Amino acid sequence: MIFETAPAKINLTLDTLFKRDDGYHEVEMIMTTVDLNDRLSFEKRNDQKIVLKVDKNFIPNDRKNLAFKAAELMIKTYELKQGVTITLDKSIPVAAGLAGGSSDAAATMRGINRLFELDVPKSELAALSASLGSDIPFCVYSETAVCRGRGEKLELINRPPSSWVIIAKPAISLSTADIYKALNLDHPYTVHTKMCYDAIKEDDYDKMCKSLTNRLEEVSIGLCPEIKKIKENMINNGADGALMSGSGPTVFGLAQRERQARHVYNAVSGCCSEVYIVRMLG
Ligand code: ATP
Repeated sequence: MIFETAPAKINLTLDTLFKRDDGYHEVEMIMTTVDLNDRLSFEKRNDQKIVLKVDKNFIPNDRKNLAFKAAELMIKTYELKQGVTITLDKSIPVAAGLAGGSSDAAATMRGINRLFELDVPKSELAALSASLGSDIPFCVYSETAVCRGRGEKLELINRPPSSWVIIAKPAISLSTADIYKALNLDHPYTVHTKMCYDAIKEDDYDKMCKSLTNRLEEVSIGLCPEIKKIKENMINNGADGALMSGSGPTVFGLAQRERQARHVYNAVSGCCSEVYIVRMLG
C-alpha cells in the first residue's frame, strides 16, 4: 500500500489581469502550502475498477471527485491494466479556497505514479493534470510558486519565511465561478505580487506580511461580510497580516511566535466554528 498526503494551499497574493477569449481570467498569484492535510492511500486491484472510499458522506466518491478523475486519467494515459482502491481521509475544509480537491487529485497522480512504479517526472504529471483543473499542477509540486495563465504555469520559488498560520473558515461556502462572475476588473485594486516575490527571495517576513493582497477579496466580502470581520479580528488580536485565500471564504492570519499565534487562534475560535493553527510548509 502507498500513502500520500495532500496539503492545503493558501494564496499569499492573487491578481486577475484580464478576461481571456476562452472565458478564463488570466491570473498572477503566489501560492504556498500549509500543514493541513488530507491523507490518501492506494492499493492495486485485480480488476480494472477505480474504487474511492471517502470518510465524509457529503463528498462524492465517483467521477465527481477530482481524485477519481485523476485516477482515470493516470490509468488511461499510462495504459494501466489494473484498477486502484483509493481511501481518502479529508481534513481540508471543502469549497473553502484551499484547493482541497485539487490537492487530492495531485496526490492521486503522485500515488499511482509510485504504486505502479511509472517513474513519471513531476513536470509531466503537472502538465497532464492541467486538463483536470487550474490549481492541480501547483498541487503536484505542493511547494511555493508564482502561478500564471489560468494558474497552471508555474515558476517555483523559495519557501516563504517560517510562520504560524491561523486558518478560519466561515460556515458559508462560496462558488469560485460566482465570484469571478461578480468581479469588476475596472475597479482599481493593487496586488503586491512583486513585493511578495521579493520578500520571499530576501526572507523578509515583515515585507511578506505587508504584501498579502487578493483581488477577489472585495467581491467575496460583498457576499460574505464575515470574511472582513475575521480579518479584523485576527489583526486586532496580533496577527502580522491576514488575507482571504483563493476565492474564499477561508481567511488566514500569519504570526511568527507560537504564543502570538495561539492568541489569534483563541480570539477567532470564539466567533468561527472551523479554525486551525498550522505551520507554513512551502
Ligand atoms: P479551490 O481552492 O481549488 O477553488 P476549493 O477549496 O474551493 O478549491 P474543493 O474543496 O476542492 O474546493 O471542492 C469544491 C467542490 O468540489 C465540492 O463541493 C465537492 O463536492 C467537489 N469535490 C470534488 N472532489 C473533491 C475532493 N476530493 N474533496 C472535496 N471536494 C471535492
